[in-house]
Amino acid sequence: MKRNILFVILAALLMTACGTTSTVPVTGRTHRLLVDDAQVLSLSKQQYSEVLGKSTISTDKTKTAMVKNVGQKLATAVETYLKNNGMANDLQYYEWEFNLVKSDQVNAFCMPGGKIVVYEGILPVTKDEASLAIVLGHEIAHAVAKHSAEQMSTQMRQAYGAQIVGGILNKSVGGNAAAIATTLASAGFNFANLKYSRDNETEADYIGLIFAAMAGYDPQAAIPFWERMAASATKKPNELFSDHPSDANRIANLQKAMPEALKYYTPPVKATTKTSTTSTAKKVTTKKK
Ligand SMILES: [Zn+2]
Repeated sequence: MKRNILFVILAALLMTACGTTSTVPVTGRTHRLLVDDAQVLSLSKQQYSEVLGKSTISTDKTKTAMVKNVGQKLATAVETYLKNNGMANDLQYYEWEFNLVKSDQVNAFCMPGGKIVVYEGILPVTKDEASLAIVLGHEIAHAVAKHSAEQMSTQMRQAYGAQIVGGILNKSVGGNAAAIATTLASAGFNFANLKYSRDNETEADYIGLIFAAMAGYDPQAAIPFWERMAASATKKPNELFSDHPSDANRIANLQKAMPEALKYYTPPVKATTKTSTTSTAKKVTTKKK
């Protein structure tokens, strides 16, 4: 079934084989994508329900509520950012979903369109909401930066770049579409455990840090969090950590990005003194740029 869907998607995208240029929010990097949002999203939705179908949803109400709450705050911050930065058009592609899954995997992911899974096993490492926001910010950044479409496009170029560039596909679309579909399907193209490039990972760290700050979470939580991840990965390798930048590089890059991320962070006003009134202690909204 998966193969058929890939075939339809890939046949459709061959109509626009030269691709379209897309700009990554926050970093402003541009990339040329051979798949469009609608195609990626239909595959993403299908794979998300497959993953949920095979998973057991957590029965822990408190943790589930925390995941949904942190996720929703990030989603709101992302949508506000896109709206305020001329990318309101992209909002139609987001149908956010946040699910906590019963599993000791130290992992989380966000498929295109905002389809998020957090595994219970990561919560002992995140420990607090700010660190969970760092993880979700990173995963959401992959989706917002369209890294899946980028990886898909890269795989297609590697396999069939010469034909696409040369326009040979125009003469035999059917045969080539089938070949590309077979290649991607047999390679197990899967949003849930997609291997991003190291550059994608570094970019997701940077964008995620800023999204977390925009959502009202202290981005400085990222440093101790990734230190805990590094320590936990030495005991038990985990998906989230493998193929990511080395912990030393990652932490150095995050430190470098911190002054920029902090510009987006407004610490909550504390109701400290006995005389302070609730009206002066109201929550401060996210700073927008
Ligand atoms: Zn990642």
